Amino acid sequence: MKHGASLGLLLGTLALAGACRAAEPPQQVRHCLQLRLHGQDSAADSCFAALARAATPYLRAEGLWGLANYQLANEEFRAAVAAADRNALYRTRWGELLHERFNDSDAVGLFNEALERDPKDAQAMLGLAQVSADGFDNQAVSWAQKALAADPNLAAADELLASLALEDNRPERAATQADAALKLDPQALDAMAIHAVIELLADRPADAWWARIQAVNPRYGPGYALAAGQLILNRRYQDGVALYRKALELSPKLWSARSELGINLMRLGQDEEAREQLTQCYQNGYRNSATVNSLRLLDTLKGFATFKDDATILKLSRKESDLLYPYVHQVLIQAIEAYQVKYHMKLDGPVQVELYPDHEDFAVRTLGMPGLGALGVTFGQVVAMDSPSGRKPGEFHWAATLRHEMSHVFILKATRHRVPRWFTEGLAVHEETEASPEWGDSITPDIIVALRDHKLLPVADLDRGFIHPEYPTQVLVSYFEAGRMCDYIQSRWGQQKLLDLVQQFAIPRSTPDAIRTVLAMEPAAFDAQFQGWLYKDTAALVAGFDAWRKQLEALVGEARAHHGEAVIAQAPAVIALYPDYVYDANAYQLLAAAALAAGKTQMALETLKQYVEHRGRDPASLEQLAKLEQDAGDPAGAIATLQKINLIDPLYDTASHRQLGDLLMAAKDFSGARREFGAVLALHPLDKAQANYDLARACHATGDAQCAMEAVLAALEIAPDFRPAQKLLLQINAQ
Ligand SMILES: [Zn+2]
Repeated sequence: MKHGASLGLLLGTLALAGACRAAEPPQQVRHCLQLRLHGQDSAADSCFAALARAATPYLRAEGLWGLANYQLANEEFRAAVAAADRNALYRTRWGELLHERFNDSDAVGLFNEALERDPKDAQAMLGLAQVSADGFDNQAVSWAQKALAADPNLAAADELLASLALEDNRPERAATQADAALKLDPQALDAMAIHAVIELLADRPADAWWARIQAVNPRYGPGYALAAGQLILNRRYQDGVALYRKALELSPKLWSARSELGINLMRLGQDEEAREQLTQCYQNGYRNSATVNSLRLLDTLKGFATFKDDATILKLSRKESDLLYPYVHQVLIQAIEAYQVKYHMKLDGPVQVELYPDHEDFAVRTLGMPGLGALGVTFGQVVAMDSPSGRKPGEFHWAATLRHEMSHVFILKATRHRVPRWFTEGLAVHEETEASPEWGDSITPDIIVALRDHKLLPVADLDRGFIHPEYPTQVLVSYFEAGRMCDYIQSRWGQQKLLDLVQQFAIPRSTPDAIRTVLAMEPAAFDAQFQGWLYKDTAALVAGFDAWRKQLEALVGEARAHHGEAVIAQAPAVIALYPDYVYDANAYQLLAAAALAAGKTQMALETLKQYVEHRGRDPASLEQLAKLEQDAGDPAGAIATLQKINLIDPLYDTASHRQLGDLLMAAKDFSGARREFGAVLALHPLDKAQANYDLARACHATGDAQCAMEAVLAALEIAPDFRPAQKLLLQINAQ
């Protein structure tokens, strides 16, 4: 269900019709909280200290919490709840404390228990909304709306809805929602901060809003921290860091902001200060998973090798850096050169690329960011991504991912980080296929289902599909849709229109305005034409989808029963229904295996070629294809196929590198051969003498006498009687 305007209105009406004010903390607690909110810290401290000496555990809990004595506050809440099982307020407040102290699972439990005791506990609903919002869970909106329905005076719920709307890149809605909060509570500081960040995102001055906040509380750091978080989410990392610094100037003990500052400094490659800031948080008891994991990651990075030149800084795990460096560096340089020409611009200084063999380490880089199962992420001129060794072989095309992230690097710079999410993602997806038709991702069954069910979003709403997905696969569908939008714009109007859109977003212009200016049409008209084109383009695929699924199931059955002839007979029809299906149990691989078993090598070869053209990426199948090509007297084809394995998984095995090295030697591409034999060695092969000898002859052929000498001596050290190596040593000495 979409959380459209009609739903909001409906809930609003219900709320006005018959809700009562939910339970809230007693007057003496609210008084202390107000003092804190207004920045009267010494008065607030005495107020909370008095509460901490109260006779009842609940009041003591509030007092201790206000004094940042979280552990004792937690114990007092436990006692308060034990003594008053039916009390919803105590559970809700305890849940809020736990949410503040990074224990969301227990917090959610307490909010739910509170709602069992008081189904109209708006604060408990708001607590659930806040936990959901932190995880970019789409439930956040409905919980906040329910909270407002239960308590129409709950300004904080309006503030949260404003913040969520802004995350979806809907500034008008966010402003309306923030105004609603201010109407309920003229001192709603976070609503003012939302207004400030709306101005900043549009490149307008926000001074008037900051002044309004200061009039209420001259030391309100959380307002700046809230704005910083929104700027970071909009990829304005430097601006976000500046606002976190401002927040900390006002509230030095705002550890959540200090932790975010540290994390974002790390994203910008400023590891030293990042470590300082995060260590401060840790030492002061602020040990949420983001802080702890980021500190751990900074330690992990010490085990990485760094390779620098004028244009690039590569950080690779020492376990695989020798092997990966030449391949990654080459793809990176090619991407930089291609984008420099396309966008007529140069980057400021080198771009830093980090490859993580442990996906969990990479995941720390995306903490607090939306998106499912990301492979790479770009922060200005820093790119972090999975290493091919961090994923199942063939699961992802690292070169395409790097090309994709490098598109972000250029577009962020070209638009001064003002580009909307749908466009930078769409362009990056589009660029993968521009680099090579085989580099993009083939359409998945999930996307076909979304097309069948007409789930595409209008261009003006597409950002929402990335941040707050309404169904599990919507993030992936949004990538696909945005990518196809860019394909469509280029195919219909030419590449220049994509460049013109980049210019518009740099101004900055909203998506609807940019579409109107560049394409001279209303966004709704664009949607109608684009979707018409896409639905037509995919109509046969969608129409044949159910038949394909049934036929593939039958085909898999035949393959399992080893009915090779049946597989050979039936597979072509399955492929014709859905040629891009190259994932688990695809018809290409089943057909190739059956053909090979029946001795039909030409059929196997043709099938695997088609598989690769449709972006099939199983390294074993590519290796098989290369062997068939070589046997069929097509060394150039075999070379091209083996080189594709390097772009998918250069760590796959030694055999493919050795075969490619031999083929390149024969083709007189000696430096290419040298790289491949070097890769064999870096993979610690069983036959080290042979591997060193191979490297020696490639080095010898390139004229690098020193490399040749070292390698041949290494071979002879392992196997002194190795004849070909002895002969090569004589040859080298003779020269
Ligand atoms: Zn991306």
